[in-house]
Amino acid sequence: MTIATVRGVRDILPEESPAWRLLEESARQIFTAYGYREIRTPIFERTELFARAVGATSDIVEKEMYTFADRGGESISLRPEGTAAVVRAFIENNLHRSLPWAVYYMGPMFRYERPQKGRYRQFHQMGCELFGAPGPLADAEMMAMVLRLLRQLRIDDSLTLEINSLGCKQCRAPYREQLLTFLQGQQAHLCANCRDRLQRNPLRILDCKNEECRAIARQAPMMKDHLCAGCADHFEGLQGLLGGMALPYTVNPLMVRGLDYYNRTAFEVTTTALGAQNAVAAGGRYDGLVAEMGGQTVPAIGFAMGMERLALLLEGKQAESSRRQGYYLLTVGEAATEQGVLLAEQWRNAGLAVQMDWLGGSMKAQLRRADRAAALQVLILGEQELAEQTVLLKNMQDGEQRRLAWDQLVATSGLLP
Ligand code: ATP
Ligand code: MG
Repeated sequence: MTIATVRGVRDILPEESPAWRLLEESARQIFTAYGYREIRTPIFERTELFARAVGATSDIVEKEMYTFADRGGESISLRPEGTAAVVRAFIENNLHRSLPWAVYYMGPMFRYERPQKGRYRQFHQMGCELFGAPGPLADAEMMAMVLRLLRQLRIDDSLTLEINSLGCKQCRAPYREQLLTFLQGQQAHLCANCRDRLQRNPLRILDCKNEECRAIARQAPMMKDHLCAGCADHFEGLQGLLGGMALPYTVNPLMVRGLDYYNRTAFEVTTTALGAQNAVAAGGRYDGLVAEMGGQTVPAIGFAMGMERLALLLEGKQAESSRRQGYYLLTVGEAATEQGVLLAEQWRNAGLAVQMDWLGGSMKAQLRRADRAAALQVLILGEQELAEQTVLLKNMQDGEQRRLAWDQLVATSGLLP
C-alpha cells in the first residue's frame, strides 16, 4: 500500500527546479535593486491575526484557512497569505522608527480551495510590502517593478496590468450603501453565493465570476465614480505616473480584490495564457491596516505573485535555465575509478563543479547519464589516460574532444565555453 500526497499539494521535481530557481533569483535581484530586503516570517500564526488582518468576512478566513488547535489548545492557522505576518512583525519589532521600510518574502501559503491547474492548497507566493510611502509614486514604482520582473523572465507577452481605486473609509461607506441598494434590487438574479454575502461584503459581488452576476455588476454604481477628492487625486496621480513611465494599463472598475484591508489603489496582473486561473500578481494599498492591528498610522502598499502560475508561464521558455553546465567524470576500469574519486576531489577543491558517475559500467551507459545530467563537459578517465596522467575532455554541446594533463584542467577551465 502506498501513501500519496494530500489533495491539492504537489512535489516540485528536479526537472522543474531550474524554473523555480530562475523565478526566485530574478525576483531577489529585482526586489533588491528597488530597495527591498528579505523578511522570513513563521509559516503559522495565531488564527486571530488573519481574522483581523485579512478580514473575518473574506473568503480566505471564512472558508479557506487551515485552522487547528495545537496541543496547548491555542487556535493556530497556516498562513494563507504574507501581508498579515509582515504587518505583525512591523508592529512587534517597533519598526515605525525605521520608515520607510521595504521588505520582500517568498514561500509557501495554504488555502483550502478546490484544486485545479494553477490553484493548489499549498502554493507559493513572493511579494513585497512597503511601509511609510503615502503617495502614488510608491504605487507606480511597485507596478513598474512587477512588470520589470515579468519582462526579465520573458513572460510578459500575454499579460495585462489592471488598476482600480477602492476609495478610503470616508468615501467607501456611502458608496457601499448605494451599491447595496442597487444590488438588493437585483437580488433575485444573483448567484446563491452572492445573495449570501450581499449584506456582509457587497463589494465582492462586483468580481464574481458568474455570468449573470457579471452582467449586473457592469450596471452597478462604480467606486471610481464616487471617490473623495483625496482618493481621486491619488488615482489620477497614479495614472499620470504610469503614463509617464510608458507602462500600459487598463482601469478595471470591477476589480475589488478579495482581501478586506485594501484602500485606494488596487492592481492585478492577469494573463490570457492560463485559462481560468488568470491572475499572476495582485496587490494594493492598505493605509489603515497597521493602525487597525494595533500599530501607529502608517501608509502601506504591497503585492503578491503566485509562483506556480509564473512557473507554468515559464514552462515553455525554459531552454536557457536548463543550459548544460559543469563537468561529469566517467571512469573505465577499477584503477581509473579509484584515481577518479581523488581527482574529482582535487578539482572540486580548486573550484570546479565536478559530478562523478556513481554507477560505472559501459562508457555508453555513462555518457547517457552525463547527457541526462545536463553536463557541459564530460571528463573520461580510462586505462590509457591513467597511464598518461591525462583526461579526455568531451564538450557535450558541440562534441569536440581534447586531451589535457590532470594539472592543466583547472588552468584551462576558465577558457572553456
Ligand atoms: P484568485 O482570484 O486566483 O483566487 P486571489 O485573489 O485569491 O486569486 P491573492 O490572495 O491576491 O489571490 O494572491 C495573489 C496571487 O497568488 C494570485 O494572483 C495568484 O497568482 C496566487 N494564488 C492565490 N491563490 C492561489 C492558489 N490557491 N494556488 C496557486 N496560486 C494562488
Ligand atoms: Mg482566491
